[in-house]
Amino acid sequence: MLEAVDIGTQHVGCYEDAAGGEVVARLEELAGPLRGARVLHLNATPYGGGVAEILRSEVPLLRDLGLDADWKIITGDEKFFSVTKKLHNALQGAEQELSAQERETYITHSVRNAHLLEERYDLIVVHDPQPLALPHFYGGDGTRWLWRCHIDTSEPNPRVWGFLEPYLSEYDAAAFTLEGFVPPGFPVERVEIIPPAIDPESPKNLELRPATARRVLQWIGVEVERPLITQVSRFDPWKDPLGVIEAYRLVREEFPESQLALVGSMALDDPEGWEIYHNIQEAAREDEGVHVFTNLTGVGNIEVNAFQRYSDVVIQKSIREGFGLVVSETLWKETPVVAGRAGGIPLQVEDGVSGYLVDSVEECAGRVIELLRQPGKGREMGVRGREAVREKFLLPRLISDELRLYAELLG
Ligand code: UDP
Repeated sequence: MLEAVDIGTQHVGCYEDAAGGEVVARLEELAGPLRGARVLHLNATPYGGGVAEILRSEVPLLRDLGLDADWKIITGDEKFFSVTKKLHNALQGAEQELSAQERETYITHSVRNAHLLEERYDLIVVHDPQPLALPHFYGGDGTRWLWRCHIDTSEPNPRVWGFLEPYLSEYDAAAFTLEGFVPPGFPVERVEIIPPAIDPESPKNLELRPATARRVLQWIGVEVERPLITQVSRFDPWKDPLGVIEAYRLVREEFPESQLALVGSMALDDPEGWEIYHNIQEAAREDEGVHVFTNLTGVGNIEVNAFQRYSDVVIQKSIREGFGLVVSETLWKETPVVAGRAGGIPLQVEDGVSGYLVDSVEECAGRVIELLRQPGKGREMGVRGREAVREKFLLPRLISDELRLYAELLG
């Protein structure tokens, strides 16, 4: 049997304050016809990264709304996850070959996971490429399948895409973050555009008093009197952590007292993360102002909350990005953001209004310097950013969009 993730409980009524009573009422209305529907969310990791973040918040709410919802994780060894990381990178356009042996590894694990999927569901939502081939090996029994793609697949590597495409054609529907991410000639007819969202009620996004945020950061080793610049993200080349260090070095020429925190988490399905982590640590050793924090040393949701709240500027210098939950998480706390003009980030940041979008290390450094010089401007941008998140990127909106699609698929 596939492992089910233990999750907490939540009540949809708790979202009235953040999202508004009408939004919550609509959610309940949409869920009515789906009461009792057996829905499974399937992905590769219970922690680390945006998908796990969303599911931990979403599945308890689906249950509260009356659906019989579960969250399960596929199994795999390191060999499998290094193949799936290659798939992930190739789908985001990297030059990446997949050897015959790597294809075999992927298929063998998919067969095994399909057999382990013993319980029956009305609808299975498969997240990202790791469990993508499961419908093929599961056998038809009337289950409806939805592929939820969280990454930028606008220009997938053609050879790797050619390998995955036949498996995709077995889905009933697919959901992407942006219209532009749907690859040309996509084999699934029913395609929905649904951007992700953050959970205002999670420990990561709950209100924290400034004094508490400050104390939390002081406790883990941040020098709270010095200007603080932060990037929170998995250690992944697409998030450009080394570019962030370069930008910081330019900022420091103007603000010698400033410090940079690179806050990163290691995910179960991300062996590549370790190598990047070591490269970052090496770069950080040369520089007294650069600090690396990870989930391995106790940086969890509350600490991330404190970083996103207390930093003078938060950077998200992604080169490719599916959505970048960290951007909405930061704006929700009214902290100014300087972010790469990539993927789903421009959906969240209106350049010059609710933050800055940048295309290079120099531009990134320039905008950070500007915001350190004019903190009032940054605060105004943060306030506008929070309102945009309230309107578009809170969990009830995401669940409403999904329930509409579930109803169509199960109707
Ligand atoms: N995250 C975290 N600790 C870290 C780094 C990241 O909790 O050290 C969380 C972050 O707050 C966000 C998620 O992991 O909720 C990352 O999601 P995002 O969409 O930004 O990127 P992804 O990792 O999915 O590419």
